[in-house]
Amino acid sequence: MSISPLMPVYPRCGVRPVRGDNAHLISEDGTRYLDFAAGIAVNLLGHSHPGLIGAIQRQAETLMHVSNLYGSPQGEELAQRLVDITFADTVFFTNSGAEAVECAIKTARAYHQAEGSFDKVELITFENAFHGRTMATISASSQTKMHQGFKPLLPGFKYVPFDDLEAVRAAVGPNTAGFLVEPIQGEGGIRVASASFMEGLRKLADEHDLMLVLDEVQTGVARTGTLFAYEQYGIEPDVMAIAKGIGGGFPLGACLATEKAARGMTFGAHGSTYGGNPLAVAAGNAVLDAVANEEFLASVREKGERVRQRLEQFIGNYPELFEKVRGKGLMLGLKMKVEPRPFMQHLRDKHQLLTVAAGDNTLRILPPLTIGDAEISEFFDKISAGSADYMVPESV
Ligand SMILES: *Cc1c(COP(=O)(O)O)cnc(C)c1O
Repeated sequence: MSISPLMPVYPRCGVRPVRGDNAHLISEDGTRYLDFAAGIAVNLLGHSHPGLIGAIQRQAETLMHVSNLYGSPQGEELAQRLVDITFADTVFFTNSGAEAVECAIKTARAYHQAEGSFDKVELITFENAFHGRTMATISASSQTKMHQGFKPLLPGFKYVPFDDLEAVRAAVGPNTAGFLVEPIQGEGGIRVASASFMEGLRKLADEHDLMLVLDEVQTGVARTGTLFAYEQYGIEPDVMAIAKGIGGGFPLGACLATEKAARGMTFGAHGSTYGGNPLAVAAGNAVLDAVANEEFLASVREKGERVRQRLEQFIGNYPELFEKVRGKGLMLGLKMKVEPRPFMQHLRDKHQLLTVAAGDNTLRILPPLTIGDAEISEFFDKISAGSADYMVPESV
């Protein structure tokens, strides 16, 4: 047999982490890496955070899983907290980002069907978006590399260019149910939606009674310096998917909606066996304990600003490698003039610095939000050394 026991859908690298310590990962062979990937924007509190560990340990000892057929004091607590700190009135818990987006898509369609508007089934989505790997969420993305081998796709998605309000306006028709958009495209290359675009989507949604659905799976939960990125646009969505950071490393996602938007989500409309079980929501509550306060959010903004300013200065030394810095808070990207993947590999293998490559020639910098001055200095030491000794591979 030549297939690996782990289905070979990931080109896994040689780093084999066995332990974590805040912003560092320790590999099987003892090598220490500075982790500015954070499980792709997941480990907000770094690795081995005592508050998160304690909450999971206590809950595991008490009650790990019960069915959603029973009342959930633990789930009610986290849902109420999310309702209190967001636009939303109601929350459905999932185990992943794609499931949260699935629930958001179903919520948007069900809204119109509950209204008797059976033709309004289509969501307008955006080029180079990423919403996950289920059939619905790959169908929601224009990225054909994710479609290969899996057709037929789910109908009901229309792709238009990102951050192009005129294109959206032209695409709205009698079948439009709403918009599904990342305020900052993550996998697509840390591409930040403009304020006028987000405001325009809100206005169009209001004018035509459409659902504005945000995918804040990557931007959400303090990553951008506010609890959710939409706050920085001065708008509110009707529906929002979150995941990644909310569990701090424990699998947890959520679909949040206003009472109006959730009109179609009635008894029996949706479900999940594991979604929001006591163990998962204990992790979510521990993450909110740490991040949902002005002091923590201000520290993310301050560190984000500091890293950004130093990056702006630093890239000036390597104009042949870097074009610009983009992002918000500690969701940052270096737009490169060369392929980011070999550079990411060089930083990883020669300098023990972990980052993530993304679309649009961008290197993502997604540290734990708990980094301090020492980790920031170490990051700049490593990326400076890694840029100085980088030999751009000959293209083939
Ligand atoms: C990661 C991501 C998803 C998918 O989340 P999974 O937990 O991998 O299913 C969806 N949307 C965005 C914006 C993401 O970054």
